Amino acid sequence: MTPDVSRRPLIVGNWKLWGTRAQAADYCERLSVQADWSADLGVCPPFTALDVCVERLGGSGVAVYAQNMHQESTGAFTGEVSAEMLTELGVDGAVLGHSERRQYNCETDRALQDKVPAALDAGLEPILCVGESEEERERDETQRRLRSQVQEALEKVSDERLPEVVIAYEPIWAIGTGKVATPEIAQDAIAFIRALVGDRSRDAAQAVRILYGGSVKPDNAAEILAQPDVDGALVGGASLDPKGFAEIVAAAAP
Ligand code: PEP
Repeated sequence: MTPDVSRRPLIVGNWKLWGTRAQAADYCERLSVQADWSADLGVCPPFTALDVCVERLGGSGVAVYAQNMHQESTGAFTGEVSAEMLTELGVDGAVLGHSERRQYNCETDRALQDKVPAALDAGLEPILCVGESEEERERDETQRRLRSQVQEALEKVSDERLPEVVIAYEPIWAIGTGKVATPEIAQDAIAFIRALVGDRSRDAAQAVRILYGGSVKPDNAAEILAQPDVDGALVGGASLDPKGFAEIVAAAAP
């Protein structure tokens, strides 16, 4: 089969702990009036505002992602939300393994190994986040960390389905710090991740979209997004302003 090597850019805004239902409705309205999009784009509101975004953005082409999802469909897991609960709302995908969830909520690579296929089986697009800490980078352990995260999280995904996973390379030292990775660092790490996927399937490596995340802003987006292996961005803080977010999307124009 000929692989799809077009890799349309994808820009996703992670709202983190922001967005009442009223704020979400206002955001969607302001986002919808922005220019036509040269990239795929999506937003990740909190669970409580997912349906607001699905309803307001329906038909606009803007995808709606949850910020987390549990791997089981039912059971004694207080406070958790399943894939089916998300698809019932019309949600398109889920961010999985964000470093803040790894740090504060004990998210593990082992759990991600079940979360990623559970999302795919339910028809959700998983955005799998990986990335090294500052200490790991200083100790020259970036590749070791990325290898274990990528290999473990994708272990139960078949080669054929690998291109349906979006991977976000998010160095922890760059998230919310204003310390963006240089275009070279982003390119090197993402090319390395692509090669890891290539160890499983060459076609999948060509087709899988790999995003960069970490302090992306309207004024630094273009040079990062211009890197050959960078297929888009996962944007936190700067995505909360719909105008700035639209500028980042515009920077992804091929
Ligand atoms: C994120 O939350 O995934 C992120 C990249 O945050 P920020 O853009 O604020 O660094």
